[in-house]
Amino acid sequence: MKQLTRRSFNGLAGKGLLGSALIANMPLANALSTNKNDKKLGIALVGLGSYSTYQLAPSLQETAHCYLAGIVTGTKSKEAIWQEKYNIPKKNVYNYDNFDTIADNDSIDIIYVVLPNSMHADFCIRAAKAGKHVICEKPMAISVAECDAIINACNENNVKLAVGYRMQSDPYTNEVKKYVREKTFGDVKFVSSDAGYISKGNPDQWRLDKSLSGGGALMNMGVYSIQTSIYGTGQNPIAVSAQEFSTRPEYFKDTDETITAQFKFANGAVAHMMTSHNSNGNRLKCHCSKGWFELDPAHSYGPISGTTSNGDILKFPHKKQQALQMDDFAKHILMGTKNVAPGEMGKRDMIIVEAIYKSIDEGGKEQLLSLGNMGIVS
Ligand code: NAD
Repeated sequence: MKQLTRRSFNGLAGKGLLGSALIANMPLANALSTNKNDKKLGIALVGLGSYSTYQLAPSLQETAHCYLAGIVTGTKSKEAIWQEKYNIPKKNVYNYDNFDTIADNDSIDIIYVVLPNSMHADFCIRAAKAGKHVICEKPMAISVAECDAIINACNENNVKLAVGYRMQSDPYTNEVKKYVREKTFGDVKFVSSDAGYISKGNPDQWRLDKSLSGGGALMNMGVYSIQTSIYGTGQNPIAVSAQEFSTRPEYFKDTDETITAQFKFANGAVAHMMTSHNSNGNRLKCHCSKGWFELDPAHSYGPISGTTSNGDILKFPHKKQQALQMDDFAKHILMGTKNVAPGEMGKRDMIIVEAIYKSIDEGGKEQLLSLGNMGIVS
């Protein structure tokens, strides 16, 4: 009987053929079950900056279906530190130059790209070509064309793709989605959402450099407000108008500081979002025909806090969102559960980002959107 390697295992999982392969190929099942990380998928983090260091790697110590198997870094001095801290073998350590040889490493199933935004497309496409499943951090890329290129590369190489939208795995977010779906408070009429912080750091940081970030507050925090506007109504918007505000042009030389935008939805609902690198904001409020519900904070690392017009205070056990997120993706690969943050969701949000920038360029002119149900996962 032909034995499956980890690489062909990934390909079969990508085609949804894993179940039949596992029955027909017991050697693979044996190989996996003799692994000390029994049936856990190996993740390699690409880019060991603050998000990988302080959120993703610690979260991978709490995951049930995946584990930190490898690292890809351009900083030589980080290699030994990470190897020792997380017991990573030398053979699973890569740099940006030898990254493509990861194709030959059967211990790596998923590549998680955690680099500046303009580098996402290149590394996600190379990961897909290496036959690895891909998680791409938010924002998915810096243009719709790049999102398409990532999606196509994953489809062509039969690997799965998710965006690092941790809120899609958060229990408070999912409770809000349930309220919307089940009309617990009637029809959602108006959604207000904010996502921002006051940027005071190094003015040369990559987030303020358009060539690396693709844009300012909108690219960085605005995708949260776009997401909350959509899961707060359960629909994609049909039109958007937007405005930009600049008060510190000497600091925000290259990127947007504060943006507000208004969305229209097919059922008559309306949403207003604010995103900023010059104001704090972390809230979602949904006004409905029979009451309201609110998350405040709505998208920090947790615990999130929720209240409703019934006087309910939402309370869920706290687990790291990133652990829930990476386990959700691993379960999608291993068990065929739904992909809660597929590439189409990241692309949809980038279509909206581009429409917002276009509206600003055209003095706030309304931009029509034809998104259908693209990226909606209920
Ligand atoms: P960071 O600046 O802390 O780390 C960036 C990493 O990229 C560093 O290891 C750096 O060495 C490396 N790098 C490679 N080439 C670089 C270049 N030309 N310029 C700058 N850095 C370069 O950033 P971060 O906060 O870890 O963000 C990385 C990605 O993760 C971004 O896409 C960001 O939007 C995303 N992120 C997501 C969340 C979330 O909650 N989902 C939170 C933080 C960051």
